Amino acid sequence: MTNLSARAKFATAMLRTAATLSRVSGRGDGSVIGGRVGLTIEPRLLSMLAAGRQVALISGTNGKTTTTRFTAAALEAAGPVATNSFGANMPTGHTTALAKARDAVNCVLEVDEHYLPRLLNEATPQVIALLNLSRDQLDRAMEVSGLAAKWRTALSAAPDVPLIANADDPWVTWAAGASSRVTWVAGGQRWQEDSWVCPQCGKHLDRYGEFWRCTACGLSRPSPHWAVEGDSAVTPDGRRIPLDLRLPGQVNRANAVTALAVASAFGVPPEAAAPRLSEVKSVAGRYAVVRRDGRRVRLLLSKNPAGWLEAFDMLEPRCPVVLALNAREVDGFDTSWIYDVDFSPVQGRQVLAIGDRRMDLAVRLEVNGVRFEVVEDIAAAIQAVPPGDLEVIANYTAFQDIRAEFDRVN
Ligand SMILES: [Zn+2]
Repeated sequence: MTNLSARAKFATAMLRTAATLSRVSGRGDGSVIGGRVGLTIEPRLLSMLAAGRQVALISGTNGKTTTTRFTAAALEAAGPVATNSFGANMPTGHTTALAKARDAVNCVLEVDEHYLPRLLNEATPQVIALLNLSRDQLDRAMEVSGLAAKWRTALSAAPDVPLIANADDPWVTWAAGASSRVTWVAGGQRWQEDSWVCPQCGKHLDRYGEFWRCTACGLSRPSPHWAVEGDSAVTPDGRRIPLDLRLPGQVNRANAVTALAVASAFGVPPEAAAPRLSEVKSVAGRYAVVRRDGRRVRLLLSKNPAGWLEAFDMLEPRCPVVLALNAREVDGFDTSWIYDVDFSPVQGRQVLAIGDRRMDLAVRLEVNGVRFEVVEDIAAAIQAVPPGDLEVIANYTAFQDIRAEFDRVN
C-alpha cells in the first residue's frame, strides 16, 4: 500500500465521518454519501486508495453481489479483505470500501456493468471476473450489444489484465476475446434470448447442448478451464473440489466456481477457499430464511428476465411462491419485460402476486395460463398459505420492502 497525500488523508477522514453520520441517522450504510464526499475533496481518491493493493473486479448483469461475497469469503483465508459486498457498486461505493479497510491488501469490488471501463482505469485490477450480459431494466440500461462493445473496447486497451470469463455467454466471450490472458469458466447461461446471434458478425449462433458456435465467422464457446460437475468444482488441472453451499441453485455453484478462480489468481488454493463458501448463508437478505407465524419464508431477489429464470430453478418442488413486482425508479418504470419471462415453471403450486405492480403481474400470469391469487402484501401472503415453507421472488424495491418488513434481515 502506498502512502496517501495529506489531501487524500483528509478526504478519507471526511469520507468516514460522512458515512458514519449517514449510518447513525438511519440512512443506509453510508457508502454512497461517504464516497461522494471523499471524491469531491480528492477526485483521484479511488485510484490512490487502490494503488499497491491486489484488486479483483466482479461485473455482469446477474450474480455479481453473490459472487463478490463468495470471493471475499474465499480470500479471507489469506487475511482481511476490502469489499463492497452490500451492493454499492459504483465508484462512490468502491471508494468507501477501499477507505474503510485500509489495511486489507486484497480487495474485491462488485462493479456495475456500466462502470467497468472506469474501474479498469482507476482501480488497476489484478484480475477481472466477467459473469454474463443480458437485458436489464428496459428504460435505463444500454442494449446488451452496446454494453458488450463498451467492455470489449476497454478490455482491448488493457490486454494484459487477467480475465476470468464465462465461456457459456457469447457476449462475454466476445467482450473478453481481445485479451491475451483469459481463464474461461463454464458459468452457465439459462437465459439465451439475448444471444441468438453472433456478437461478432450478427449471423445465427448454433447451439449443441452447452456448446455454441457461429455458423458464419466461427466464433465459438472456448473450452473452459473451470467447471461445475454435480456438487463439485473442477479445477484447470482436473481436481474435483466439493462445493457444500448453503445458497441454492446451479447459478450459485457457477458463482462459487468463479470465486474459486479469482481466489486462485490471488494465490489462495481452492481447497482452502471452498470451505469458506459454505459459510455464506445469505447476501444482503438474498436467500435469507425468515420464520413468521409458522411459515419458513425464503427470500429470492431477481431483477430482470435472466434472474427470474434462475430463481424458478431454485424453488423447492410444490412449495407455494409469492411473486413481488414493483416499478419504481431503480427497478425501471416499464414492466413489459415480464412478457419476456416464461412463468410456466411456477405452475402446479400456489402462486400469490404482490407489489405495487401486482396487477401487471396478474395479467402476465393470466396470459401465461398460470393460476394465481392477488393479495395485498407479504403479510397477507403469509396468511394465505398453509404453515410450512414459502418462497418469495421479488424484484429490487419489492425485495427491499419485504426485507424491511422482516426487520432488514441480512
Ligand atoms: Zn459470427
